[in-house]
Amino acid sequence: MKNRLDDILAKALEEKDVLEHDELKHLLTCEEPGELAALYRAAYRMKERHIGRKVSLRGLVEMSDLCVKDCYYCGIRRSNRAVPRFAMTRDEILRAVRLAREYGYSSIVLQSGERSDPAFVDFVEEIVREIKRIDDFGITLSCGEQSSETYRRWFAAGAHRYLLRIESSSRTLYRTLHPDDAMHDWETRRRCLDFIRDAGFQLGTGVMIALPRQTADDLASDLEFFREVDADMIGMGPYLPHHQTPLGREFPELDAEKTLETGLKMIAAARLYLRDVNIAATTALQTLSPADGRERGLLAGANVVMPNIGDTAYRRGYQLYENKPDLDENLPEIRRKLEASLQSIGETVAEGWGDSPHFASK
Ligand code: SAH
Ligand code: SF4
Repeated sequence: MKNRLDDILAKALEEKDVLEHDELKHLLTCEEPGELAALYRAAYRMKERHIGRKVSLRGLVEMSDLCVKDCYYCGIRRSNRAVPRFAMTRDEILRAVRLAREYGYSSIVLQSGERSDPAFVDFVEEIVREIKRIDDFGITLSCGEQSSETYRRWFAAGAHRYLLRIESSSRTLYRTLHPDDAMHDWETRRRCLDFIRDAGFQLGTGVMIALPRQTADDLASDLEFFREVDADMIGMGPYLPHHQTPLGREFPELDAEKTLETGLKMIAAARLYLRDVNIAATTALQTLSPADGRERGLLAGANVVMPNIGDTAYRRGYQLYENKPDLDENLPEIRRKLEASLQSIGETVAEGWGDSPHFASK
């Protein structure tokens, strides 16, 4: 007799009706190895259908760990005095981008701690222009909450994708992760997603997975939130405790295998539910399982990988969480390993910018 999971997977693959909250929750709570394998298999079929067996690469530049915010989970939060602060110069960023071009990257992600002072806004605008002068790169920005005008300026300069995770769609859970003040306000962050979309960007959002106090209902609601804001790209990853943060001190334990499993289930459920969006296999997966975390993410339905292309000298400063992989690896090494690992799972690197098919279909 067919079980409930089979029915839900068949319904998802039929692409006629949208999965209900309880069905998403069922996907997220299955635990038996045979069921997990069936879930990942179905999600991979959906990916093959809409994306192919292809992975889009983004060269990630972590520009600076200066941040005005104090998120309770993040290693580079303002109050963490133990972090060495850095800001890459214009020339350092451009050097990284030129090197990335040599190694075949056609898309770049610029990420940083959050600042919205005029000097920073000008700097990002200028750097986007300069990168576009080097080559016609696809440029994604991930520099936090900004004014509508700032997003418009950065889009006009040539960036065309923006990542801003909502962190959790639950206002209650969000409150437990951030100080209760105007700078850390869920509604403001939610409004920024509209600003980003209205400025013309392809919209990326996401959440942290396996957070303390997070339930399967919360995660199912996160998926529903992604559909509600009509996200083009999903960048979500397991939460990893950092011992120099309030949340990491309160909940220092980490069950790596369980956390990885929850992360993979979210990827698979997101693929089945949202179908044609770009989904990243984030570095946090690789941190939890250096040997195969990223590959397992791709086999569960993800289609984007963002290897770090910044100078190795800075990577230690940008520790949102601890034990990030690839800290000392240079570009050729990272690229070689990546190609080998993709080959081992029968995937190849996609050509071009690798834009979200979801955005193209609008
Ligand atoms: N400052 C920007 C971008 C850099 S932070 C912003 O906050 O949007 C990028 C992402 O890192 C955050 O959205 C958060 O989801 C993630 N992050 C921070 N600390 C983390 C941790 N301890 N474990 C997992 N992800 C974390
Ligand atoms: Fe700053 Fe982003 Fe970290 Fe929050 S998550 S402290 S905004 S870098």
